[in-house]
Amino acid sequence: MYDEEGRRFTDLFCGAGALNYGHNHPRLRQALLDYISGNGITHSLDMYTEAKRDFILDFQSTILEPRQLVYRQMFCGPTGTNAVEAAMKLARKVTGRPRIAAFTNGFHGMSLGALAATGSRSKRSAAGIPLSNVDRYPFDGFLGKDVDTIEYIQKLIENPSSGFDIPAAFLLETIQAEGGINIASSQWLNKLTKLAQKHGILVIIDDIQMGCGRTGKFFSFEEANLYPDIVCLSKSLSGYGLPMSLVLIKPEWDQWNPGEHNGTFRGHNLAFVTARAILKEWQDTKAVQRIQENGRLLHDWLTNLPELGRGRLKTRGRGLVAGIEFASGAQAQRVVQSAFEQQVVVETCGPQSQVVKLLPAINAQAQELGHALAVISRAIARECQA
Ligand SMILES: *Cc1c(COP(=O)(O)O)cnc(C)c1O
Repeated sequence: MYDEEGRRFTDLFCGAGALNYGHNHPRLRQALLDYISGNGITHSLDMYTEAKRDFILDFQSTILEPRQLVYRQMFCGPTGTNAVEAAMKLARKVTGRPRIAAFTNGFHGMSLGALAATGSRSKRSAAGIPLSNVDRYPFDGFLGKDVDTIEYIQKLIENPSSGFDIPAAFLLETIQAEGGINIASSQWLNKLTKLAQKHGILVIIDDIQMGCGRTGKFFSFEEANLYPDIVCLSKSLSGYGLPMSLVLIKPEWDQWNPGEHNGTFRGHNLAFVTARAILKEWQDTKAVQRIQENGRLLHDWLTNLPELGRGRLKTRGRGLVAGIEFASGAQAQRVVQSAFEQQVVVETCGPQSQVVKLLPAINAQAQELGHALAVISRAIARECQA
């Protein structure tokens, strides 16, 4: 990014994960310009267009089929929270159960249903009304490394006097982004899925921030080999920062009546154009290789940091997401500020904003990424010496 004076900034925040492929990707910009100058239709409500068809078919053949995932594609309103609302509503409809099981430190959006499932107290209290029909379960690691929260969750579900009703769905991120880069282990995710299957509970993966390549694979749940009932995508789905979201639904759960969950901006043709164009990246083995190499670069850098911090920080990450946890939010904020002064943009996350979150462009040039990481290393070293 450049400011008004032409100073160059390297963005490791990337629109909170809406710009996994960087700002203004030239190939996407060209696809968009071609579509607009060719007078391609801009608005079409939820009706079929060439741009929509081309995206649906290419998403099917490039992303779903190679992973042996069979899903219906549902386009809802263009933001992430719209996708979460649709997923929650559908899970309630098909199971006939009102409650959704969400997790400590989860983040799902700001509209009332998704907000009820969001952990942050300050965000929830802004609702001004009681938020209802969500139960909170402990995420992997919430009670410390040595406590298997699945055991506790299983007790709550299976003991008929636990005070908890069987939920319609488990709604979760596999790596909690806003919640502080908390990573659920593959083992935990698989146990949760098994428990869900046993009780007819749907599994909804909110892959809005961690999907679209962020973890090194297209979906964050590929690592654990999951086949969730419903998947929510948004943020980087259009590749270009245009609003777009998609709910993937196992065919047996696609029980919507026609028009039952409608909306004016359900799938935006300009976003379909760029979302289709970016799929080329996932067909190109060189491009996929670069994503993996960048992931290794970030991982190597991250694992060397605790030495730099001399026990004063903890690090977590996978693929192209990294979190560096400090003792306080003030410390993390000083690192963010100091990086900004050196023209590198990062943000904080976590319940006390104590985690510096790195979300570099997944297709970054290694040299550029290395330079930005060196700036952050220096900011951390200064903070930890202070
Ligand atoms: C950003 C985000 C949302 C909400 O998306 P909006 O477009 O801001 O409504 C939901 N879930 C997760 C995991 C997110 O990161």
